[in-house]
Amino acid sequence: MRSKFSENRRQFLRWAWWASLISLLPSKASAQSAWHDQDGGFRNNYIPAIDKPLADVRRAFAGERPPLLNFPLATNSPEQLRANKTQTTVTWIGHCTILLQIQGLNILTDPHFTERASPFTFVGPKRGTPPGMRLDDLPPIDIILVSHNHYDHLDFATQLHLAKHSPQAHVFVPLGLKQWFKGKGFAQVTERDWWEEVTYKGARLTAIPTQHWSRRGLLDSNKTLWCGWTVQTDDFSFAFLGDSGYSKDYIDIKNKFGGFDLAAIPIGAYAPRWFMQDVHQNPEEAVQCLQDLGARRGLATHWGTFQLTFEPMDEPPQRLATAMTENGIPLDDFMVLKHGETRIL
Ligand code: ZN
Ligand code: ZN
Repeated sequence: MRSKFSENRRQFLRWAWWASLISLLPSKASAQSAWHDQDGGFRNNYIPAIDKPLADVRRAFAGERPPLLNFPLATNSPEQLRANKTQTTVTWIGHCTILLQIQGLNILTDPHFTERASPFTFVGPKRGTPPGMRLDDLPPIDIILVSHNHYDHLDFATQLHLAKHSPQAHVFVPLGLKQWFKGKGFAQVTERDWWEEVTYKGARLTAIPTQHWSRRGLLDSNKTLWCGWTVQTDDFSFAFLGDSGYSKDYIDIKNKFGGFDLAAIPIGAYAPRWFMQDVHQNPEEAVQCLQDLGARRGLATHWGTFQLTFEPMDEPPQRLATAMTENGIPLDDFMVLKHGETRIL
């Protein structure tokens, strides 16, 4: 009869054998990458974890915000956009929502077409200018690119509408958001980590790092990833940054891709500076970003649509123009479009 001691010893050895095997496996952090936290969340490449004390949040959002402005809408031609299969065009619908047409593909970024950037329909940052196109006027969407889960980028009602009326659309999201989109009814959702790519309908899409954060509920800070996207076809190369503070990530992106024909770059939501600078670049940094990325042209996003922060809503393009002039860059190299304006590239 075996003694209890030898049975325990045998069990210990068995456990140790398995433990030694498991210890050979790379830990989650090292197997994946430096931006993965041990607890399954995410962090930025070039700044420590963003964890603002509540007192700072209160101080940053105290006081009265500048007035909500309404900008004039441009007229566009949904019929022409729908018929277009050859020209490269870009239409700024508002905030970070862009319709990009390349190589016959209709690509929509961070689609937001409702009244508020908020979990609620009755309170939260309100839209000052209507979307530059109606949802129902969009051409058939092939690709939806999503940068992160903040309410000004990821809108519940818009996604429900798109899932129902554009079931052919393939949604590309950063890590942690696939189930959210599946739950809204999209059949095709692909999740990617930073630097991971996927080829779809002849376009190479890559999730790229941005300096930002994520949160949608009370207890889910940085539990899903944030990112930008690049889209490369045979003759055009595009970068979409979503939301980002200025960081060395831009140089890393340039080093990987060698530059872009067009980059959609955020220029607004930067005040108060002491609070916002880690996660929202200002217009001067946006100009540096254009240069760091090696982009031939920029398109200004993340301004003029929702009243999110404390700079006047018409200030970002003014400061952008000044910064462009000071850097000797032609103003048209960083396009500031009207809501709804289409440019043929
Ligand atoms: Zn954001
Ligand atoms: Zn944003």
